[in-house]
Amino acid sequence: MKIEHLAEMVGGSLACDGPKAWSETSQPGFIQVPPGSNRTLFARRRADGVCLNATRGPRRGRRGASRGGNRPRRHGGGKAGNFDVVIDMEPKPAIQRQVEYYFCEENLRTDDFLQRNLDGDGFCSINIISTFARIRIFTAKLKDAGDPRPSEELIADAIRESPYLEVGRDSGHLQVRRVLKYSLKDISGGVPVTVKPSRASSSTKEERGAPCKYHFAGYCDRGSRCPNTHNMDYCDAIERQWMNPIGSGSASKTGPLVDKLKKICSQLGLSSPSLSYASKMVRSKLDAAQARTVGERQAFDYFVVIDIEGQHEIIEFPAIVFSTKGLREVGRFHRWVKPVNLWRGKSLNPRSDSVPFSQVLKEFEAYLRELGLVGRNSNENRFAMVCCGNWDVKTQIPKQCKLNGVSVPRYMRQWINIKDVFNEVYVSKTKATGMKAMLRRSGLVGTDGAVEGVHHLGMHDTENITRILLRLLEQNVQIGITGKL
Ligand SMILES: [Zn+2]
Repeated sequence: MKIEHLAEMVGGSLACDGPKAWSETSQPGFIQVPPGSNRTLFARRRADGVCLNATRGPRRGRRGASRGGNRPRRHGGGKAGNFDVVIDMEPKPAIQRQVEYYFCEENLRTDDFLQRNLDGDGFCSINIISTFARIRIFTAKLKDAGDPRPSEELIADAIRESPYLEVGRDSGHLQVRRVLKYSLKDISGGVPVTVKPSRASSSTKEERGAPCKYHFAGYCDRGSRCPNTHNMDYCDAIERQWMNPIGSGSASKTGPLVDKLKKICSQLGLSSPSLSYASKMVRSKLDAAQARTVGERQAFDYFVVIDIEGQHEIIEFPAIVFSTKGLREVGRFHRWVKPVNLWRGKSLNPRSDSVPFSQVLKEFEAYLRELGLVGRNSNENRFAMVCCGNWDVKTQIPKQCKLNGVSVPRYMRQWINIKDVFNEVYVSKTKATGMKAMLRRSGLVGTDGAVEGVHHLGMHDTENITRILLRLLEQNVQIGITGKL
């Protein structure tokens, strides 16, 4: 959904032109619609870019405090304020928009009724959707206009073109789910705590006690000899904390999960949980005016930082989208990846939610589309991929694409190797050859010289690379493409 559509949906128009405008109100993530008016409608874009939503205003205080536990949630937005605006729309696009809204993370998170009606693959019967009040208004309009088909088919027809939704069929019945993987852990909310693993001396091995990325992706051949933690709740918590960085506004949703994790940590004999460990939102200390000056020097509006893991085949794909205009991170994307051949014949960890690389690319593209970085009406020259070294984009992604039988996405055919940029700026007798050296030279380590996060856990490395990138931007370094396929 485009931001303009969102504004239109709540009865306003916007004088802004992209994701950058979203962060520019006193309440992070919200803009008032229409800007400057005295109405209280707000539109919101989540930091992770997964969904758009229209609401009467940012939620305050404890969510759901006034809502009964088992009472089904009323569908159709429930707010009379924007209801009238929407029913004036053409029925087909209105149905698409409405169903997109039902399946956006913001809604799914709190929509008990819809949650209960999703099957294991995230599908909901379109028959159920057809009973929702607002959907009924639009299907009735289509029927009044002479379309004889049943409601189910009218809805399927309207949402088929949606980049966010997927229509399926189960024993003759039409069903719908979102393209972006939806799992209960996405909606459980809450920022988990994590622990500081004791540091290993080697810089090439994962730290002791760190979550085992292989186990998390599906299979670890070290089994019980593995020095890393195979506890899934713990692994899960690390991922969730990274996806909901401190400072992104989600830090208040701690609660039961924190207690649960403290328990896990004490059972595992790991040091006490620390919320300050990794997963800080990547944001510049420069003021808005300074940031603008910096942004104006850059050829790209956004950088998409990635740091994939897996020697033979890719097992982890993390990304952080960073705005050069706002000098702050815009969102995060993370998937565990199921290799094609590597673990053939092994019995995989049943709790792993890894997906094939072809699926990861699809979901990643859908994510970039939501941010307005790819797709129709977007200028794909606005962003560039950034990585630490040439290996990720030059070697491993084409190799994995070939294995999965998919072509390399256009925007992954060129990249910025941050090491090249860094070594041009920090001229020294010895080049910085790794991430840790760059972090040290740019002063991005703790007082004890330690690097934040778990080295070689892709999602943590991505965050650290983004910090180095930010440091370069703050120093007004012009960052351009360093390699092409
Ligand atoms: Zn392991």
